[in-house]
Amino acid sequence: MTTTVFEVEKVNSLKPLEGKVAIVTGASRGIGAEIAKVLARNGATVIGTYNNSPKQIEDVAKVIEEEGGKFHALQADVSVFDDTEKLATEVKEKFGKIDILINNAGITKDRTFKNMSKEDWDTVINVNLNGVFNATKSVIQHMLEQNDGRIVTISSIVGQAGAFGQTNYSATKAGILGFTKSLALETASKGITVNAVCPGYIGTEMVAAMPEKVLNNIVEKVPMKRLGLPSEVAQAVLYLVQADYVTGQAIAVNGGLYM
Ligand code: NAP
Repeated sequence: MTTTVFEVEKVNSLKPLEGKVAIVTGASRGIGAEIAKVLARNGATVIGTYNNSPKQIEDVAKVIEEEGGKFHALQADVSVFDDTEKLATEVKEKFGKIDILINNAGITKDRTFKNMSKEDWDTVINVNLNGVFNATKSVIQHMLEQNDGRIVTISSIVGQAGAFGQTNYSATKAGILGFTKSLALETASKGITVNAVCPGYIGTEMVAAMPEKVLNNIVEKVPMKRLGLPSEVAQAVLYLVQADYVTGQAIAVNGGLYM
């Protein structure tokens, strides 16, 4: 049966998130913390994960709770499949379901390829790409059974354009784009959307770790002449979890930067 345009128009395509249960990986700071806040402000119950920063996630929890939002912190290393399996089981047991997964956790280990060790390569692949497999694999069956789900993964402009000294990171962020498009095709008829966001250079600890000269050169190339804010990335994520007819897409949030 096909749905007519008239029927689609009757459905409010932008849903508030009340009653929705969302997992945000790497919510202890930076972009993940802002995603957690914006989802909670819009009514979702947010389970924010951390790996090594229990103190930082407490600060995020405090802000959200002060705003009247619902937030719960859980520890999980996304590079360990057992951890994401435990996370999904615990969320289903405590909150009854999982509606939204935001794959945000990520790391860098920048070196020119000549100087990159096997360990530098494997560590970044294990967190940024295997971590996306692990967390998504741990929730997908549940989303298929409930015929509803939203998966958003944080890629990067570096996955689209490449970057000097980031072959490992760039490979993971480009891999996420292929993963997103393929999984979107497999789940489009099952009520699940799968999308990515490609931030440009955003003012977080990850970017603060870059040499100042390199960062200044990058900002000079950004048409808006500034770094992005984590909250500006979170706005794009909010749109994607509310939209019904958008899947397999990558939204750039980069101040107009095309390298
Ligand atoms: P960040 O400030 O360094 O925060 C990274 C987050 O990931 C932290 O919450 C950290 O938690 C978590 N994390 C790291 N390893 C983990 C693991 N093995 N398991 C679970 N969580 C782990 O980074 P950010 O700048 O906010 O970046 C967030 C995402 O956006 C990343 O995927 C990054 O690649 C992407 N991105 C960032 C930029 C940018 O300019 N900042 C641009 C494009 C894309 P713990 O500290 O608790 O371990």
